Amino acid sequence: MGFGARLLARLDEEFPRPKTALHYATPLELLVATILSAQCTDERVNQVTKTLFARYRSAQDFARAEREELERRIRSTGFYKAKAKNLIECGRALVDRFGGQVPRTMEELVTLAGVGRKTANVVLGNCFGIPSIVVDTHVRRVSQRLGLVATDDPDKIELELQKVFPRKRWTQGSHQLLLHGRHICTARSPQCPECALNPMCRWEGKRSA
Ligand code: SF4
Repeated sequence: MGFGARLLARLDEEFPRPKTALHYATPLELLVATILSAQCTDERVNQVTKTLFARYRSAQDFARAEREELERRIRSTGFYKAKAKNLIECGRALVDRFGGQVPRTMEELVTLAGVGRKTANVVLGNCFGIPSIVVDTHVRRVSQRLGLVATDDPDKIELELQKVFPRKRWTQGSHQLLLHGRHICTARSPQCPECALNPMCRWEGKRSA
């Protein structure tokens, strides 16, 4: 069994059914929630979107949003002025260029305000079933510690991980790495002695099992 397969087998035991923590019912809602999640916890975003999605139900609603009202509603997620501006611009672009729908390709998604490869991959993988690797701070750290990648650049990490995991496992595998980083291989105090990936981890700072 190769390194990628052994890694996935252990992650499958640890997190058998990974699911995004953000609450959403449509691609638009996941897009908005992911934009709001920058520098913010998923729990806080879920609190905010509970009422936000009742008020703004379509791309048109965001396109026509009154900026100050939107800022007030998303204020607690931080960077609310930039996020409100992006959400309004994003809504306008969806209406003007995509018939009010969230597009289904990376090329189109990254043209939207506030949307980079990470957000685009979240939407492609979770809403449209297109295999996608999401590289957030947890995935970056765990990939580096395990020795899967030797770079800090999220775009390069995405490409490297595409080689480690079979394509059909990209979405789930990267999500499992994220959960492993959030719960076990944390930034400040990784739980190395209890870590299921310990025997395959190449980090020089790891503690023995
Ligand atoms: S052994 Fe430690 S550093 Fe390596 S993946 Fe596990 S928790 Fe992270």
